[in-house]
Amino acid sequence: MSNAPQDFGTLAIHAGTEADPATGARQVPIYQTTAYEFRDADHAAALFGLQEVGYIYSRLTNPTIAALQNRIAELEGGAGAVCTSSGHAAQIMALFPLMAPGRNIVASTRLYGGTITQFSQTFKRFGWSAKFVDFDDLDAVKAAIDDDTRAVFCESIANPGGYITDLDAIAPIADAAGVPLIVDNTTATPYLCRPIEHGATLVVHSLTKYMTGNGTVTGGVVVDSGKFDWSASDKFPSLSQPEPAYHGLVFQETFGPAAFTFHGIAIGLRDLGMTMNPQGAHYTLMGIETLPLRMEKHVANAEKVAAWLEGHDAVEGVTYAGLDSSPYKSRVAKICPKGASGLFTVQLKGGYDACVKFVSALNLFSHVANLGDTRSLVIHPASTTHRQLTEEQQTAAGAAPNTVRLSIGIEGADDLIADLDQALKAAT
Ligand SMILES: *Cc1c(COP(=O)(O)O)cnc(C)c1O
Repeated sequence: MSNAPQDFGTLAIHAGTEADPATGARQVPIYQTTAYEFRDADHAAALFGLQEVGYIYSRLTNPTIAALQNRIAELEGGAGAVCTSSGHAAQIMALFPLMAPGRNIVASTRLYGGTITQFSQTFKRFGWSAKFVDFDDLDAVKAAIDDDTRAVFCESIANPGGYITDLDAIAPIADAAGVPLIVDNTTATPYLCRPIEHGATLVVHSLTKYMTGNGTVTGGVVVDSGKFDWSASDKFPSLSQPEPAYHGLVFQETFGPAAFTFHGIAIGLRDLGMTMNPQGAHYTLMGIETLPLRMEKHVANAEKVAAWLEGHDAVEGVTYAGLDSSPYKSRVAKICPKGASGLFTVQLKGGYDACVKFVSALNLFSHVANLGDTRSLVIHPASTTHRQLTEEQQTAAGAAPNTVRLSIGIEGADDLIADLDQALKAAT
């Protein structure tokens, strides 16, 4: 092809896939197989030695999952991607090649509740640690980075909504310190934000959310920009020096911009085994085909519903970055110009008790611990997803006790408003 297609809508359907070479099947088949027959002993040896790229065993690689990896890498503008069994697995997979006992990451306080728990508690078992910092305080971010820091971590549009990280300000700080910036792009999706264009080294996703889009799959992905020079210091020996876990292979020297991706498959998936399944990958490929249409509607609905809620007597505040009243409104134009996604929080004047009543009184909104579904969802973070955090951590993460999180679906906006109206009446 002379002119490679550039439009996001075209890429969402075509990137990374072609008609199946074996059968001509136009849609990506679900390769439901564990293993792949080697042509002969030399072929097997070349595959295991990474001299030839191909399929060995589905813990490592699978054609359905490869199609998804290629599509997401292209949508994010990355050099390669590795899919994982969940978004949380993607976070561990992204950090695994970078970290070692005694090393730390500098992370934003505004993160998905489960991520704060993973970083502050489970990290300790690996001898890793996380320093949580307000990413609006750039001096504090700089000051938190020390000789043992191996990554800076934030979300582009932060869960539970309403906050947008100024990636353009954070990326140069990570760069100056010689460490990669990892951006969780789950809430934005590459349709609304492409973190690599703002200086991110790695992008992680929970594919469970908007990317699949209908609440059918648990999955994740790590996308590498291919732009970080792992050999610029001695901080990343797994990538820049002989890797004992792969008979002394030097990944960056051998694979160049694909080093991180090859490491993720050859060592990360091989030894941690956080592999996505082919059926899940197929559903996510189907979901991504309509990602641009869905995100347009999520944004349009969220803008309408947030504006309506902001004018309601029972409401203390609405933290949607797409509202004119949001302190982060100016960052929308810079970081995610097509909109601030469909996720935000609403603070009720009646506090914790009103929130609990409000959630119970909603009919069209489903009370579930998920987001980014075609249907509208609601949750009260302080009593659920952010329950394990202290009240101080809850408030810092945007999930104070008087706060309800809404994930606005793609139904008719007037029906959503009617449901919210009757539930607010019931709650106050
Ligand atoms: C859901 C979510 C995760 C975790 O993803 P799982 O697929 O549930 O493991 C991580 N980050 C964000 C922003 C999320 O919304």
